[in-house]
Parts: sequence; C-alpha cells; structure tokens
Amino acid sequence: MLACLGRKWMRLSTMNLKPTWNFVNAVDASRTIVRGISGGGAETVAKERVDTVVIGAGVVGLAVARELSRRGREVLILEAASSFGTVTSSRNSEVVHAGIYYPPNSLKAKFCVRGRELLYRYCSEYEIPHKKIGKLIVATGSSEIPKLDLLMHLGTQNGVSGLRMLDGFEAMRMEPQLRCVKALLSPESGILDSHSFMLSLVGEAENNHATFSYNTVVLNGHVEEKKMHLFVADTRFSESQCEAEAQLQLIPNLVVNSAGLGAQALAKRFHGLDHRFVPSSHYARGCYFTLSGTKAPPFNKLVYPIPEEGGLGVHVTVDLNGLVKFGPDVEWIECADDTSSFLNKFDYRVNPQRAEKLYPEIRKYYPDLKDGSLEPGYSGIRPKLSGPKQSPADFVIQGEETHGVPGFVNLFGIESPGLTSSLAIAEHIANKLLR
Ligand SMILES: Cc1cc2nc3c(=O)[nH]c(=O)nc-3n(C[C@H](O)[C@H](O)[C@H](O)COP(=O)(O)OP(=O)(O)OC[C@H]3O[C@@H](n4cnc5c(N)ncnc54)[C@H](O)[C@@H]3O)c2cc1C
Repeated sequence: MLACLGRKWMRLSTMNLKPTWNFVNAVDASRTIVRGISGGGAETVAKERVDTVVIGAGVVGLAVARELSRRGREVLILEAASSFGTVTSSRNSEVVHAGIYYPPNSLKAKFCVRGRELLYRYCSEYEIPHKKIGKLIVATGSSEIPKLDLLMHLGTQNGVSGLRMLDGFEAMRMEPQLRCVKALLSPESGILDSHSFMLSLVGEAENNHATFSYNTVVLNGHVEEKKMHLFVADTRFSESQCEAEAQLQLIPNLVVNSAGLGAQALAKRFHGLDHRFVPSSHYARGCYFTLSGTKAPPFNKLVYPIPEEGGLGVHVTVDLNGLVKFGPDVEWIECADDTSSFLNKFDYRVNPQRAEKLYPEIRKYYPDLKDGSLEPGYSGIRPKLSGPKQSPADFVIQGEETHGVPGFVNLFGIESPGLTSSLAIAEHIANKLLR
C-alpha cells in the first residue's frame, strides 16, 4: 500500500502501518467492496494527485508503463500481487506468435505482427533469452487441409513473411517423429524467456523513474470533473477480510486499466463509466503437461495442430531449457465472483486425469507418445470476451472515443497473443493517450 512522502512513493510495508488515513465506511460486500464511493463516504479518504497510473503489472501493464515512462510521464504501477507477472503472464506457452490465426485488420493481427517485430528487436537489444525456432502447423488428415490453406491465406494477408506449405514427407523429414499429411511452416515463430522479458521491462520503467507499488489493489473509482479517481487499499488487508476499505484516493491525469482477468470486474466498479461498454468475461482454463521419459525433445520446432474452439490446439512447446510441454487444453470455467477475480483467487490446479483426453489428440501427430509419459505441469486462464460456441473476439482497447472519459483506457480480453503483442499494445496506447 502507498503512502506519499512529498513526491516520493513508499510502500506502507516499509513504514508504520497505522498511518493517518481516514478510512471510508465499509462495506456492503455483496454489492461492492467499498461502499460510499458514489454516496460521498469516500470523501473522507486521503487524496493524492499523480500523473499516470497503470493498473496491473502483467506483461501488458509493464510494457505500457515502460512506454509511457520512456515518453516522459511520471508513472505509478499499482499491482495487487506481491510481485509483477504472477498471473496470466507467467502461465502461458511463452511462444512468440507470427500473426497467422487472426482475421486481417483485427487488433490481434496488427499487434501480433508489429509486437513480434518489436519483441525480437527488444530481446536482441536487451539480451533476453529467445530463439526463433519456427513452427509447423500440421494437418493430420486430408479433411484438415482446407483449414491449413485458410491459415496460409490469413497469415499472408496479415503480412507474416516466410510462410511455406510443405507436403507431409518434407515436414516429416524436418521432424522425423512427426506424422502429418501437410504442414504450414512459419519460420518467424519462436520462444522467449518471458520472466526475463518482464524483469527487463520493470528495470527499464524504473530507469525512467516509474514507481511500482505491489500489494496494492485498486478497489474501485469514480469519474469526477472528467477524471477517473481511483480508490486503493493494501491487498493483504483485503485478502483477510474479503472486503476492504479504501486507504487512499488517487487522482491521476492518465489511467490504464490493464488488470487482465479482473479488468471487467474493475471497470464495473468505476462509477460514472458507462457499463454498457464493458464486455462480459469468459474464462477458459488451459492445462499443460510435461513430457517425461524421453532423453531428448522429440521435436526441434513448435508443432501445432489445427486450432480448436477456444484455443490453438494442444501443441508441443519446447522451452529454452529443453523442457517439452503439451497443452494448453480448453476448459471453460465459471467466471469467478468479482472479489476473487480481483485477488486472483483462481483454481490453477491441474487435474492429472485431463491427460487421458490429451493422449489421443497428441498421438494424431506424435504417434510414439508413450503411455504414462504426460505429467501434470501448470495451468493458465484465458481472459476471453467470447464464450463456448461463439466466434473468437478481438482485443478491446477503449479510450475516450468510446466511454467519454479523457485520459482513461480499458484493456479487455488480452488473451493470446497478448505476450507477443505487448510492446505493440503499449506503443498504441502511448500514441493514443499522448496524441
Ligand atoms: C494458457 C495460455 C497460454 C498463452 N500462451 C501465449 C503465448 O504463447 N504467446 C502469447 O503471445 N500469449 C500467450 N498467452 C496470452 C498472454 O499470456 C496474455 O495475453 C498476457 O499475459 C496478458 O497480460 P496482462 O498484463 O494483460 O494480464 P496479467 O498477466 O493477468 O496481469 C494483470 C495484472 O493485474 C493485476 N490486477 C488485477 N486486478 C487488479 C486490481 N484491481 N488492482 C491492482 N492490480 C490488479 C493482477 O494481479 C495481474 O498481475 C497465453 C495465455 C494463456 C492463458
């Protein structure tokens, strides 16, 4: 939690935790964490003016903080967890996507292609471990070939260079353990060490005088005099009580809501923001299984099947340490209630029985997969804007032109390829806010 000393921010954890804040009256927990924001109760809480607030220190929030601080803004990053990147940003495939799957002119297509270029450049410049190992998207039966052709067409339209259609023999010569009838080779796809990338973004932002406040949750806010006022509290209090009192009111000039899985829940707590523009949330958990009992990785490249509903298919990823993992599968889960999504109280357990469904899927392209070789790994939850049986949705980036609040941006549905797109999203937001 924050206290302000002159223009210097400090975490309350390093100070006396009994500051002279006037707490707002708590709480009607069934409705919202803090009561009285619209009714005036929050008037009693201490107020601070700040320049720019980024809510959420996932890879996207970090990239935005780095970009805005690079362009001279004084940035404060508020993160509910005790460190950066602990939620979706550390629960993914760590793949640098080329930009193949997305409808032409969509934000996903645009940001993935631009983001990949920026990301590879960034990784080279800052010595972030990464490898352009390439990817094969495979058709394992002739009925899948039209879908592969469509992916080739989409990728070409999106400006992905180097795509090449291979017949089965050519693909299997490249990857002898592979079985397929046709494959789309994407040489631009790769892998990176996402933790090193995020650490570097934190360092860059700090070099630009950005300040990080961990264990700090944005509870809600309201629009006043065309500015988004934010109410914040120490997460550790909120966790124990499941209801919290705001300890500080921040009045920033610019606010970016980059709260990932919690972005919609948070936006709905902003009074004065038109909630018609807040899309509904759908969560799809994806579990990964690691491969045991093999001496060497069976594949050198990433191997992806044809995409399935809700995900890109149970694919093979090799990380930079040579660890092979299969996943993520797709399991639609109930949207957690809004307090849980705030505090990242999601169920990330990997049910070992889910492996049973994966074996036949994987054996379609990797027939030598041995019984019992899949071991539970980790899981991540996709922050989706469309549910089962609905068409995939694009990223949503809402600024003043949509909701009418100057200097305020909401990011919704930043699922895959959000890691690849992060630097491009940051560039876009900085251009938008600092126009
Ligand atoms: C299974 C899976 C596989 C994926 N694979 C890939 C891939 O290979 N390549 C790729 O490009 N992308 C991939 N993605 C997508 C990528 O991981 C995400 O797009 C990206 O991590 C989103 O980052 P973020 O910063 O928006 O969200 P997050 O990482 O979720 O960060 C949001 C942060 O906001 C904080 N927060 C939330 N509410 C509040 C609040 N009220 N106050 C303060 N802080 C708050 C959270 O604690 C969290 O740290 C994958 C995603 C999943 C789920």
